[in-house]
Amino acid sequence: MIDHADGPDSPLLPARTVCHCLLVETDSAGLVLVESGLGTNDVPHPDEYLGAEWVGYAAPVLDLNETALHQVRRLGFAPEDVRHVVLTHLDRDHVGGPADFPHATVHVHKAEYEAGIAGGADRYRAAQLAHGPRWATYASEQGDPWFGFDAVRRLDGLPEEILLVPLGGHTEGHSAVAVDTGERRLLHAGDAYFYGTEVEVFSSHDPWEFQRYAPTTPNPSGPADARHQLSPAGA
Ligand SMILES: [Zn+2]
Repeated sequence: MIDHADGPDSPLLPARTVCHCLLVETDSAGLVLVESGLGTNDVPHPDEYLGAEWVGYAAPVLDLNETALHQVRRLGFAPEDVRHVVLTHLDRDHVGGPADFPHATVHVHKAEYEAGIAGGADRYRAAQLAHGPRWATYASEQGDPWFGFDAVRRLDGLPEEILLVPLGGHTEGHSAVAVDTGERRLLHAGDAYFYGTEVEVFSSHDPWEFQRYAPTTPNPSGPADARHQLSPAGA
C-alpha cells in the first residue's frame, strides 16, 4: 500500500510503502494479528533478513517501535496473547511478525504457502520464517462464494467474523482478510492495489514506479483482475 500523504498527488516526494496491521480482540481466540509487517529480527539485521537489494530501493523504516511486537506491548498485551497471525501473502515486508509471536498459529492461503515455503521462490526470504511457525493453510477448492468473491474460507480456530478472501494476482496465493466488527465490515486487501484510485476508477495501467513487480506476478489473473473485484464496477 502507498501512504496517501506521499502518494501520486505529491510527485516531488518519494512515495512510502506501508504494511497496515490489524489487531483484533476476540472472545474465543485471544488476539488475532492480521498482517505482521517487519519484525524485531528484520530491524537490526536488514540485509540478512530482508536482503540488501530490497532494503536499498524500498528504504524501509527500521524502527523497533514500529514493529507489531512493540505496538502490542504498548497496548498493554503480552506477546503470548496473540494466538493467531493471518497473512495476506508472504512478501518480506509482511512476514517479520511470526518470529516475534512463535506460539501463534500462522494462517495463509495454501498456494502462497507452497510458493513461499515449499517452493522457495526468490521473492521470499526464508530466514524470516526459519523458526518454523505452526501453519494453517487453506485451499481455494474448499471455499464458498461471498459478496462476489470466490472460495472464501473460515479460519481454523477463529470466529466466523474473520474470513480469508482469496485475491490472487500480486502473488499466487495472495488473499484479503475480512473482519466483521459487528458495526461494519473491514476488508484488508493486502497488496491487491497500491493506490486508492486504482479501485475507485478501474484501470489496467499500473503506476510506473511499481512495474518492477510485474515480472514476479505468476498468476494469469493478475493484479488488475484483483483490483477489478475490489472496485465498485467489479463488485
Ligand atoms: Zn507484496
